Amino acid sequence: MAQDASTWAGSWAGSRALLRRLRDLMAGSGAAEQRLHKIVTLIAANLVAEVCSVYVRRAGDVLELFATEGLSQDAVHRTRLQLGEGLVGDIAAHARPLALADAQSHPQFALRTETGEEIYSSFMGVPIVRDGRVLGVLAVQNRTPRTYADEELETLETIAMLLAEIVTSGELVAPGELHADANLLATPSRLEGVRASPGLTMGTALLHQPKIMITNVLADDPEIEQSRIDEALSQVQSALDTALERPDLAGAGEHRDILEMFRMFAQDRGWIKRINEAIQTGLTAEAAVQMVQDDTRARLSQASDRYLRERLLDFEDLTNQMLTRLVGSNQAPAPIGENAILVARGLGPSELLSYRAGLLSGIILEEGSATAHIAIVARALDLAMVVQVPGILDRVSHGDDVLIDADEGHVFLRPADDILESFNAAMMVRDDRQRAYAAIKNLPAISQDGTEVRLMINAGLPVDAARLSEVGAQGIGLYRTEISFLAKAEFPNIAAQAEIYSQVFDSTDDDQPIVFRTLDIGGDKLFPSIADAGEENPAMGWRSLRISLDRPAVLRQQLRALILAAAGRNLHVMFPMLTDVGEFSAARSLLERELERAKHLGTPRPKTIKVGAMLEIPALAWSLSSLLPKIDFLSIGSNDLAQFFFAADRNNPRIDGRYDALSPTFLSLLASLREQAEDQAVPINICGEIAGRTLEAMALVGIGYRSLSMSAGSVGPIKSMIRSTDIAKLSSFTEELLLLPISSLRTRLRAYAKDHNIDL
Ligand code: PEP
Ligand code: MG
Repeated sequence: MAQDASTWAGSWAGSRALLRRLRDLMAGSGAAEQRLHKIVTLIAANLVAEVCSVYVRRAGDVLELFATEGLSQDAVHRTRLQLGEGLVGDIAAHARPLALADAQSHPQFALRTETGEEIYSSFMGVPIVRDGRVLGVLAVQNRTPRTYADEELETLETIAMLLAEIVTSGELVAPGELHADANLLATPSRLEGVRASPGLTMGTALLHQPKIMITNVLADDPEIEQSRIDEALSQVQSALDTALERPDLAGAGEHRDILEMFRMFAQDRGWIKRINEAIQTGLTAEAAVQMVQDDTRARLSQASDRYLRERLLDFEDLTNQMLTRLVGSNQAPAPIGENAILVARGLGPSELLSYRAGLLSGIILEEGSATAHIAIVARALDLAMVVQVPGILDRVSHGDDVLIDADEGHVFLRPADDILESFNAAMMVRDDRQRAYAAIKNLPAISQDGTEVRLMINAGLPVDAARLSEVGAQGIGLYRTEISFLAKAEFPNIAAQAEIYSQVFDSTDDDQPIVFRTLDIGGDKLFPSIADAGEENPAMGWRSLRISLDRPAVLRQQLRALILAAAGRNLHVMFPMLTDVGEFSAARSLLERELERAKHLGTPRPKTIKVGAMLEIPALAWSLSSLLPKIDFLSIGSNDLAQFFFAADRNNPRIDGRYDALSPTFLSLLASLREQAEDQAVPINICGEIAGRTLEAMALVGIGYRSLSMSAGSVGPIKSMIRSTDIAKLSSFTEELLLLPISSLRTRLRAYAKDHNIDL
């Protein structure tokens, strides 16, 4: 008899009993499909659901109904959905569960009349996942609209973990359908990804994570599993403690910070609690760790916010370490040759740091993000890195020849001779270029017709400041304070913040401005203590200065730390994400209060203070007449400004490149901002990514910008571009271009550069 939902929820013993019965059914006799049918019937009864169905992924990314209790039996093998189609397709495409009281009003709902499902209101489905690959979907439905309890969802996820066994057994569909095409592993291929750390390199593929196979999913005794988890966790924690004591990390600021942060993840209560609960439902320690990771991956990989997605890599790293301790690696460790190119799905910074220095020459990640900590570490180690290369793990084998062009985001596997030849030539050209940039490092960025452009760098960690002199830039135009926060185990107090800012001051000359931008965090991405999770649209939500103004204590602490660190020096403070002048005034008055406080207490104050505004929200562009008289400088955050101007999420790969910052509309806006600032004699600068791209920077210089801030690696190429440009000529050309009724000026600007020998 079916149990009542309220007694089911939270009943771990019930969950374990159900899993045992399911396991017996799976191991029983009869054809796999018959057993599957018994399984769905049992699940439906236990979860008090009228429907329980299993969809299996087939070749061609189709999800086919294989067994159902409650839907029409005629629909079995007839109902087929494409990945992404309907609720089932959506679950599979995003590898994330869905629980809906009113499924039919969900925008993804796609009615299949042959199933007879129009009478069911509520729906709960979970992906069937193994080794990160979605193999199918398990779903239950109810007639009455009901809200499924979290425990029910967890139980369904646990069952799905078990069902993965029967799907991978080869009894339902041929194993070949579940795996990538073997041909993909033999032929040369070229893959595209996203640049994360520049460089061109060639080497041999080294698969980071020989797959850890979980063979034991169900446990007999949760207590034993619990102690296995505790043991593994304490081993991981003590390994981190030992790593932190490594003498070579003693002075290595950001590496150390990152490991510290890891220690925090290893102590994350939410994460540990979910693993413990999964054990209570009847899973083995390793299956519980894997299930929580699959779930975390599904939730975080959907986040439009990059910091959240980066946290995913940290958890992947931790999961791998836990699994290695729980079940060991099932494959012999791969021998590492010289020039290894590390290939992984995701990689955490501590994993990268565990490779012996000098052995790696590049990194390719199937997932990952260009702004993750691993990218910071890769850049610090001078390793070329490309991320978001879909399908790389299906195509690469250990020991394959690999070429990485991280400047363009290209990856070549098993390259043919002609590719190899042109790659060698490209490497030689790149080396020559680097030598040429080094040669002009100490020369100013002066154009052919004698106009100087100020080049500054964007930084986020104290060590970045050292790159100022290395690349020959004139200051830090944007110091993203939240990056240092990110690498800390805890929200840093005033003294800890002041220490970070002092280090930045100490590593630069007095005459080099450092523009400290106040915290630019979004939603709860970094600090759950400050904000809540789960905003629909975090880019336009409670972020950045909005948080700072609503939680003034946080901003005041930061300002106090900046004042302390800047004692006797020149302090530049900049407020991000301003929507109107009132927000600037409110933020500025907090700064004034902190300065008053310092005066009152007699603490040393900065020698000079300049306060700037970041223009990232179009509304502010219409407030300049009242804003400009209040500020000492204006900086254009073109990354956010373009996102809001074009209504195009800067993190959404689907619309990446759809609109061009080199459009007459966007450039006209930038030109008008520059004119208004200059009319009021307010210095203006651009610190978004476009300032560091040669063609875009050429256009910016053409429309009158004389101060650009960019990542350190861009300074050489931009300086070289400016030194080869006649700015007066370029300006009259761009002036005419802005009148053209076209969506991109890219081709024309490139042609101009070519005709005028501008070094791009
Ligand atoms: C910008 O939006 O252009 C900017 C520089 O800030 P961030 O990229 O940190 O949002
Ligand atoms: Mg911004």
